[in-house]
Amino acid sequence: MSLRIERIPTLSDNYTYLLVCEASGEAAVVDAPEAEPVIRRVDASGARVTKILSTHHHWDHSGANPELAERWGAPVFGHVSDAERIPGFTDGLDEGDTIRVGEEEARILFIPAHTSGHIAYVFDAAQALFCGDMLFAAGCGRLFEGDAGMMFEAMQKLGALPDATRVFCGHEYTESNLVFAAHVEPENAAVAAKLEQVRKIRAAAAADWHDATPAEMTIPTTIGEERAINPFLRAADADELGERRAAKDSF
Ligand code: ZN
Ligand code: FE
Repeated sequence: MSLRIERIPTLSDNYTYLLVCEASGEAAVVDAPEAEPVIRRVDASGARVTKILSTHHHWDHSGANPELAERWGAPVFGHVSDAERIPGFTDGLDEGDTIRVGEEEARILFIPAHTSGHIAYVFDAAQALFCGDMLFAAGCGRLFEGDAGMMFEAMQKLGALPDATRVFCGHEYTESNLVFAAHVEPENAAVAAKLEQVRKIRAAAAADWHDATPAEMTIPTTIGEERAINPFLRAADADELGERRAAKDSF
């Protein structure tokens, strides 16, 4: 495995990722809302950024695309339906497509629900999933442009990935998600244990998220862990998933 993944804290709780193929030095940036922290990290790493990737069009996942694309002369990828909405968009992707970062390959999963053009990038060999605002640690994104049926289908797709797949999501929402998960499943021991662990990690957090070190980040989790703790991934059907999402909206 030669995909190095650096977690860059951006805005107030966003994750931007720098993916570096160690064999070739080629790199990609996933979900960049602000340029400065990303440029600093790329310069320090010596990586050569050849692709800008967005999981969906929301500004907090794509706002810095044009500035970064111009700086490195890199194309900007997103779902083919979001050509008009993703800043700097140049290349459309859809379910089943693949892209490469150096020698590492990613499959594209189309997972609309949070937005109508949401995709995930799955690096099978590196066992890494980049899923934006669809699946969070112990949570899921809001249903802005889809319904519970679409979200259930997307959850089935992500839940079918191998247990060891690392989940790199778009926000550090884990602690509040686990409080809700414990409310939904008070008897779930895995949720209780994870909440205790995450509270310890987050209690030591820096005041400014931009200064966060890996020690205070709860991401990545894994698909196997999410299967045990995530009330949305664990929902039996679209109705239960929809009820839980609606309850979370006003929790
Ligand atoms: Zn979003
Ligand atoms: Fe977001």
